[in-house]
Amino acid sequence: RKRDDVDVEKLEHAVADLDPTAEYKNFTDLPLSEPTKAGLKASHFTTLTDIQAKAIALALKGKNILGAAKTGSGKTLAFLIPVLENLYRAQCIGADAGLGALIISPTRELAIQIFEVLRKIGRKGHLFSAGLMIGGTNLQEQRDALSRMNILVCTPGRILDHLSKTAAFNVGNLRMLVLDEADRILDMGFQRDVDAIVEYLPKDRQTLLFSATQTKKVSDLARLSLSNPEYVSVHESA
Ligand code: ADP
Ligand code: MG
Repeated sequence: RKRDDVDVEKLEHAVADLDPTAEYKNFTDLPLSEPTKAGLKASHFTTLTDIQAKAIALALKGKNILGAAKTGSGKTLAFLIPVLENLYRAQCIGADAGLGALIISPTRELAIQIFEVLRKIGRKGHLFSAGLMIGGTNLQEQRDALSRMNILVCTPGRILDHLSKTAAFNVGNLRMLVLDEADRILDMGFQRDVDAIVEYLPKDRQTLLFSATQTKKVSDLARLSLSNPEYVSVHESA
């Protein structure tokens, strides 16, 4: 923990000094923890994509983000890096810290993909406990694991199930909510589930909402789930 304390203090200053309007080019230009830097390097991620360059610095500084960029533009790392970093700097690590971040994805397949990327970039020394909560796996086993998780990747129906039925599932320490593929979440009819989930969460959290398209429904959802968002989008050049 000693080494972490020094690292955290340095990072706090560097993040405070970060200029969110400067579009950082390489991951090594950003104030990231040693484990995240090592995880990105081992995964051969070196240069930020456009959406990452626009969103990550703002998200590191704790801003709420409403981000739109087409499929394949790298939205997963645009939210996973801030999740790892903001929880790391807060030392929201280990069973006592409780759930720090909830990442909601429309489908099981997408949730699994996010979880795999999280494992990949988190594998070089991060000590978070992370879990995947999707339908089709054992509800009781999930219940027992819930109280230990710091980061949870889930689908809307399953997490709402746990929030309404699992007494030991405490979300009082939650710092970050991510809604990924928000347009698909809505197309699949999960609007009411997401509204209900948000009701359970602390109001002073940071929220990152990403979608491939900007629709009326997405802005309606944003109005309910994020206050004062920074709008970040990447348009295709013709
Ligand atoms: P989206 O969620 O926007 O559809 P993904 O996050 O799934 O996009 O990323 C699409 C692909 O781009 C993935 O194969 C991912 O590994 C790759 N990728 C993401 N960020 C980078 C990066 N900074 N450098 C190189 N490849 C990247
Ligand atoms: Mg995606």
